[in-house]
This record gives sequence, C-alpha cells and structure tokens, in this order.
Amino acid sequence: MVFSCADSRVCPSVTLGLQPGEAFTVRNIANMVPSYDKARYASVGSAIEYAVCALKVEVIVVIGHSRCGGIKALLSLKDGTPDTFHFVEDWVRIGCPAKEKVLAEHAEAPFADQCTLLEKEAVNMSLENLKSYPFVKEGLEKGTIKLVGAHYDFVDGKFETWDH
Ligand SMILES: [Zn+2]
Repeated sequence: MVFSCADSRVCPSVTLGLQPGEAFTVRNIANMVPSYDKARYASVGSAIEYAVCALKVEVIVVIGHSRCGGIKALLSLKDGTPDTFHFVEDWVRIGCPAKEKVLAEHAEAPFADQCTLLEKEAVNMSLENLKSYPFVKEGLEKGTIKLVGAHYDFVDGKFETWDH
C-alpha cells in the first residue's frame, strides 16, 4: 500500500515504475495519514482497512516529497489567523505534531530547510498514526505488516526510504 501526495509531479506509479495490480494507493494533500477517526477520516480509514484486512498488504509505504505545497502551507500557518480555504488548512493541520517537533529542534534553520525536514517528519508522524488503526497494530504485532517511510526529491532525483 502506498500513500503519496496528490501533487501531479509525484505520481508513485511513474516514480516507482509500478504496474497495474502492484500497489493499492491513496493520494491526498501532503500524503497525510490521520489518526483513527471514524467520523472525520472515513476515506483514509476505509482504504487502510481494505488494504490490510481484505488485500492483506504486507508493506505500507508513506512517501513524502520535495517542494510539497501542503507541507509549506502547514509550516506557514500562524496561530489565530483565519483560514483562507474551506478544507486545506484543516487537513494539513493533521501534521501539527510534526511541525512542532521540527520547529522545536530546528528553530534557527531557514524556512526552506524546515520544509524539507517537515516533509520527512510528517512521514514519520503518519507512520506513527498508522498504528492507531487496530488492524495495522495487530499486523505489526504479528509481523505480517511492515511500515516504511520514504522521501522523493524530484529536483535532485533522489528516492530515500527508511524502516519505521
Ligand atoms: Zn505534496
């Protein structure tokens, strides 16, 4: 199973050369996996449940990417400022814990560097959030599921992965 950003530059089938039938894919703004929440995130939750329980996927990969507009939007959000969009800000706020971590650890870093750090930290947060789904947690305990983080830099042509 692959989580990837909706950004047209980072289509995972193109990046990874995936063929039809190879990867069950969810794409959304900034490749976010929210925590288990039946009321708010049924779309993501149902996809994970189907992939794990019906398709029995063995690996879940969350792929972040360079120059992600969603991550930039998250990092640009200021407390107390009204939202411009109906949905976007509220969606990217899923990544707030990752943003707080990056700002705490790299407060003095230039904005562009903080964006890159957050692209990766948000992936780690999503991998952590995956564990809030009972069927993922069970798969991890049984050793039938593996979680993998990834970052695709389409400017430098680098694709990095790490186990979680
Ligand atoms: Zn993106």
